[in-house]
Amino acid sequence: VIQIRNLHKSFGQLEVLKGVDVTAHRGDVVSLIGSSGSGKSTLLRCCNLLEHSQEGEILFKDEPVRWRGEGHHRYPADPKQVLRIRTNLSMVFQQFNLWAHMTILQNVMEAPVTVLGRDRDEVEDSARKYLHKVGIGDKCDVYPAQLSGGQQQRAAIARGLCMEPEALLFDEPTSALDPELEQEVIKVIKDLAAEGRTMIIVTHDMKMAADISSHVVFLHQGLIEEEGRPEKLFGAPESNRLRGFLSATQ
Ligand code: ATP
Ligand code: MG
Repeated sequence: VIQIRNLHKSFGQLEVLKGVDVTAHRGDVVSLIGSSGSGKSTLLRCCNLLEHSQEGEILFKDEPVRWRGEGHHRYPADPKQVLRIRTNLSMVFQQFNLWAHMTILQNVMEAPVTVLGRDRDEVEDSARKYLHKVGIGDKCDVYPAQLSGGQQQRAAIARGLCMEPEALLFDEPTSALDPELEQEVIKVIKDLAAEGRTMIIVTHDMKMAADISSHVVFLHQGLIEEEGRPEKLFGAPESNRLRGFLSATQ
């Protein structure tokens, strides 16, 4: 579904991604791990074109992103393509970013109705279905402030699902949560993985990464230091940096 080839991204002089390749086929669960500042969030944001990379290719369902300009002046050339890609890669952030003045149901329905122009009644049915799926079907009519952090994050996941995206991108979806609330969100993500959803997940939770990933990528200072199947990466890491990272996160 998503292919990243030789991606380079700098913020001014700071080179954050130095030539990264990542592929997520349909049904893959790719976890991105690495120390703080290694470029994980930036890579995820480049995937759905929230950030503009300076070099390299991004392909969505084999369709390459078309660019105009070069280097720091390179931008996606086709706004329709950007919209298509962005609405097909639902992003779930660490902070759930729900609208405080809308009910949970309205939050989930908002983008499919306003961005995709889908029929309101149909969207409402599927919004209720997804809220039920993530275990908060009884919270449709309350406001975000009335939910726990774990419930808010599950609402944010339902909102992502309601876009019927090709893939979900998660950026540390559990790191703002208390450990007991973290587990309920991990359970939802595990269920989605078991369903065969395509996902790219930035996480500091090695247990979850080991559990659900088909492929794990360890980023170090903007380059892939090691990658592979989780059994291999966590069971028999080759790089010293990865071994150091894993022992520090135990
Ligand atoms: P963490 O685990 O702490 O979330 P990360 O691996 O997600 O880290 P990124 O957020 O991708 O790291 O940041 C990589 C580098 O890019 C950092 O040095 C960060 O300061 C820098 N950076 C990220 N976003 C911006 C920005 N908008 N402007 C300037 N520098 C940025
Ligand atoms: Mg980050």
